[in-house]
Amino acid sequence: MDKKNKISCSCNSCKIFLNDPTPKFSLLCACEDCRQGLRWAEKNGGKKPKDILYSVYFRSDIHSCEGIENMTATQLRKDARSTRIYCKKCFSCVAIDHVFYQNNIFMIQPEHCEYNFDIESPPKAVINLIDYPREFADLDSETIPVFHTNKYPQERNRFRSIEPISDFLCPPKTPAEGMTIREVISKIGKIKVLDLMRGDNLEEIQNE
Ligand SMILES: [Zn+2]
Ligand SMILES: [Zn+2]
Repeated sequence: MDKKNKISCSCNSCKIFLNDPTPKFSLLCACEDCRQGLRWAEKNGGKKPKDILYSVYFRSDIHSCEGIENMTATQLRKDARSTRIYCKKCFSCVAIDHVFYQNNIFMIQPEHCEYNFDIESPPKAVINLIDYPREFADLDSETIPVFHTNKYPQERNRFRSIEPISDFLCPPKTPAEGMTIREVISKIGKIKVLDLMRGDNLEEIQNE
C-alpha cells in the first residue's frame, strides 16, 4: 500500500508525497493557460478540462517522490510563468508551479490528478474570468468573490485581502523540511517548452 498524503497520476506511475497535506486555500481559475495546458495533455491522452478549474494550494514541502523518470515538466511558451508537471504515460497533471508562488506553495487541479487524503477546501475566489470562453459563467455561489483580471491594483489588493492568500503568496517563512516543488522540477530535468500560441484553445479538441 502507498504511503499517506499522496498525489499521483491516474496510472500511478508518478507519485508525490507531501509533508504538509493541509490545503492552504483553493480557487476557481478560468484562465486560458490552465485550459491550454490541459488541452495539450488531453491531446496526449489526458482528461478533458472544464472551463473553470478547481485549484488547490499546498505548501511546497515534499517528503518524497516516486517515478520522477515518468514525469515531464512543461511550459506553454518561452516567457511562461507557470511550469506544469505531467505523467508521460497518462498525462495527468500532478503539480503546477508559478513564479508568484515563490516556492512557498504549489497547486494541484484535483480533477486532473489522484490523491489519497482529504484535499477539500472551499474556493476563496473565482479568478481570471476575462478568459472564460462562454457568455455566462455558471458559478456555484453568489457570495464567492469574482475577479475578472489581475490587471488593476484595486483588483490585486482586493484579491490579496482575502484570508489567507497573502500569507502564502510570499517567500516561505519556514523552510521546507523536505524537497520543494522547484527541486522536484529540477530533478525531472530540462523543462519542455511547448511553444503553443497564446490564447490558442486548440479548438479541434473542444469541438470533438
Ligand atoms: Zn500516469
Ligand atoms: Zn489558471
